[in-house]
Amino acid sequence: MLTHRTNIFLLSSLLLISAFLIRAYNLSFGILFLPLLIFLIIEIIGASRLSANFHFKSICSFQTTEKVVSITFDDGPHGGATEKVLSVLKEFNVTSTFFCIGNKINGDISLVKKMSDAGHIIANHSYTHGNLFNLQPTSLSLLF
Ligand SMILES: [Zn+2]
Repeated sequence: MLTHRTNIFLLSSLLLISAFLIRAYNLSFGILFLPLLIFLIIEIIGASRLSANFHFKSICSFQTTEKVVSITFDDGPHGGATEKVLSVLKEFNVTSTFFCIGNKINGDISLVKKMSDAGHIIANHSYTHGNLFNLQPTSLSLLF
């Protein structure tokens, strides 16, 4: 299975081979773009398909005979909107998972505690959810 780590290893290997070919056969430095292009294509595909397990192992489906739905909310909490969502979930006696962004919590954990007290799962969705969030390895996603 191709992962982010193996892709980095692949890039490193291809760059070394390219450097050898440049030196041995006096080739153009332009051939260095081929490994970089391959690397970028694999990274984009890996980042865009969660089920590829490129950055981390993910569970994208579940075999069951029951009719079940998993409800998740990303990029919150959002104050009033999250309060309304919690109210609706409570009305229908439904639990869900909230993927929270650290800087949106902003030190006020009362809403997060309310989610937790209602039986919802609280999950980490990075601290800032930067523009390159989907391209970061999981270790960086915890920081930015
Ligand atoms: Zn998000």
